[in-house]
Amino acid sequence: MKFDIMTLFPDMVRTVLSESIIGRAQEAGLVTVRCHNIRDYSTNKHRNTDDTPYGGGMGMVMTCQPIYDCYQSVRADFAEGERVRVIYMSPRGRIFNHAVAKELSEYDRLVFLCGHYEGVDQRILDEIADEELSIGDYVVTGGEIPACIVTDAVARLVDGVLADRECYENESIASGILEYPQYTKPRSFMGREVPEVLLSGDHKRIDRWRLEQSVAITRERRPDLLAAHPEIEASLLPKEKKRRKRTSE
Ligand code: SAM
Repeated sequence: MKFDIMTLFPDMVRTVLSESIIGRAQEAGLVTVRCHNIRDYSTNKHRNTDDTPYGGGMGMVMTCQPIYDCYQSVRADFAEGERVRVIYMSPRGRIFNHAVAKELSEYDRLVFLCGHYEGVDQRILDEIADEELSIGDYVVTGGEIPACIVTDAVARLVDGVLADRECYENESIASGILEYPQYTKPRSFMGREVPEVLLSGDHKRIDRWRLEQSVAITRERRPDLLAAHPEIEASLLPKEKKRRKRTSE
């Protein structure tokens, strides 16, 4: 899968996405991340990429021309029939979550436009963007960190990036609820012990304990998730109770 990131600060993005799992996925050829410096496309003699807003007001607005020319250069690389989505990272956008990450992972290529300052001229969005996407109800200084978050979350859904599909299917949110507590060596840390069940080697008991823990944590922190997946909690009921619950429904 390909990711193109149009930005004024390409090093910010490169630094984040060249490390760890996404860095290795790039080396293995599973994903390609290319950063495009919008400033390189400015035809202004000072290589300006922003100007004051019409109508007055604070701050600067990114101008259309460098972004448009940058996008044309990215487009020149599109292959015939490639499924492409152009996304402007913006606090005005649809809120990003796991379902959106899954939806975006169906594309062959995602192109991100990162805003800065007060944002970008509306006309360039009307011309090139398929949608606006937000990482949450708060404002950060630029679209680079949001684009990295979306790229990371989508790239790890690409086949082969994680060792196994199970790695993300059993995780918080993707599984429908929140994950159980994890433990590793040593068995004792500052007087805190690893729960005995995890040392038992009894995988049926371990699975049940993990599910109970997941349900308890989700009930406490995200009851909305449990309400959306009643079958998960129901799977903990003894068989007879489950049957009675079904017939009373
Ligand atoms: N004036 C804009 C507004 O009120 O909607 C905010 C501009 S913000 C300071 C600069 C850039 O950061 C935006 O153009 C956008 O690309 C990015 N950005 C800020 N918050 C974001 C968020 N929650 N999600 C995605 N991108 C965001």
